[in-house]
Amino acid sequence: MDADGCLMCGLEDAGEAARVFRDPLWAAEIVPGYDVPGWFVLRARRHAERLTGLNDAELATFASRARDLTAAVTEATGAPATYLLSFGENHAHFHALIVARGADVPPDRRGGDILKLRETHADPGAAARLLPAVRRAYERCAPV
Ligand SMILES: [Zn+2]
Repeated sequence: MDADGCLMCGLEDAGEAARVFRDPLWAAEIVPGYDVPGWFVLRARRHAERLTGLNDAELATFASRARDLTAAVTEATGAPATYLLSFGENHAHFHALIVARGADVPPDRRGGDILKLRETHADPGAAARLLPAVRRAYERCAPV
């Protein structure tokens, strides 16, 4: 798939209300359909497919963005675990889900099975209300 019809490229049109941050190479947002409170997508701004499609500048900055967003989500949610998930199958455009795993998540929904909560735990309003705290925590964690 190319950039046409790409869900991750389409997020370039996402409003500020859905956004944790955006820099020249990376952005993090709440994604419709994955809007469980504490779930965010960290994505390359450019249509680069999978980890192997990233260029040197993207590779050099991905780890710090993932670290800082994970720290911010953990701080804002108090979750005992925060996952970094990347599959690259349904949406080839490189992205990672940063997912707070709350204490209430049962054992059979931990690890990759947490994505099964997508349908039952999506709550766009609660996800949006959590976002400012994540944004503030990210701004403290990340160099500007
Ligand atoms: Zn794309």
